[in-house]
Amino acid sequence: MDPHALLGLQAGATAHEIKKAFRRLAMRWHPDRNPDPHAVEHFKQLRAAYETLIDAVLHPLQDEAPTAAETPSETAEGANDARTDESDGSDERTDVPTGADRYEDLELSFEDACCGGTVEVTVEDVETCEACEGSGRETLRHTRLCTHCHGSGRLRGKRGLTPCTHCSGRGYVTTQACGACGGSGQRHPARRLAVRIPAGALDGDEIRIARAGHPPPDDEPNGIPGDLVVHVHLAEHALYRLEGRNLRMTRPVSALRLLIGGEIAVPLPGGERQVTLQPGTAEARTLRIAGAGFPGRMGRPDGDLFIEFVPVMPRDIDDELRPLLEQLDTLLVRGHSRYLPDVAVWEDRWLGTPPPEA
Ligand SMILES: [Zn+2]
Ligand SMILES: [Zn+2]
Repeated sequence: MDPHALLGLQAGATAHEIKKAFRRLAMRWHPDRNPDPHAVEHFKQLRAAYETLIDAVLHPLQDEAPTAAETPSETAEGANDARTDESDGSDERTDVPTGADRYEDLELSFEDACCGGTVEVTVEDVETCEACEGSGRETLRHTRLCTHCHGSGRLRGKRGLTPCTHCSGRGYVTTQACGACGGSGQRHPARRLAVRIPAGALDGDEIRIARAGHPPPDDEPNGIPGDLVVHVHLAEHALYRLEGRNLRMTRPVSALRLLIGGEIAVPLPGGERQVTLQPGTAEARTLRIAGAGFPGRMGRPDGDLFIEFVPVMPRDIDDELRPLLEQLDTLLVRGHSRYLPDVAVWEDRWLGTPPPEA
């Protein structure tokens, strides 16, 4: 295909126009960014077209300073406004050219999600290499003997001698892989952003950090970057389960404590808390503490905390515990009509008759 048409240029395009066109297309078609299976091949064609055109315009001089249009912005610390996906998405910047929004996944701990805090998010940008304008090649000051064919222009293969692919059979080269980007045509500067997590972030929430997304289009010098949208993933937790904003957990407890009640510690994402167990039966029961679950956001109420207490009976009775349990059981039997009414009814019915004469 005609290199001008491939880059969307008119014949006679200037070096600046060629670079601009290639940079814009490279941003769209680079295989690192574009999952299209044809992206690799198309990007190669674009690069070849670019090399052909720029070579024709510039050779042998390189007199254009690289256009410094896209210096990476500094960290936008704490500049996020914590909108979520329920925001209406309206945008008042309609008249300003704006870069695309950028999406990043963020795995959050239960603790950070529940209590909020600041977490660091590293964003790797993809920028066209300034040194080679994205071509991945740099022009040598002097032509150099091809190191693959040692100047012969041919390589010995299975089918005998074939033209050297590294120098196109010329025996010498005029370019080499760009030293600044290693031939990829791109640089990947990393930005580290401090992202404020609102208390009560849930799995699937989106946190929007204004102007931390993709840069504005190249030909828009007054443009502003798009937003960075952080997609929250809440890690599974070994103890907690979330149902909406309600926080559930199971806590084993001594059956005797369930009987007599009292204060008992439970671990919460924000730290331990003492809760009061009412005296009751030694059966499993669930305590609900209103408002002690995940904090509400966007006008929604706080979730509740549900603690399921599971009774555990003593096991491996030893010499220290046995006499105490004997004493306890004696007391229970003596007052069985009060403490153990089921036992009392049963024994009254089935016991107390003398055994039949042998
Ligand atoms: Zn060669
Ligand atoms: Zn480069």
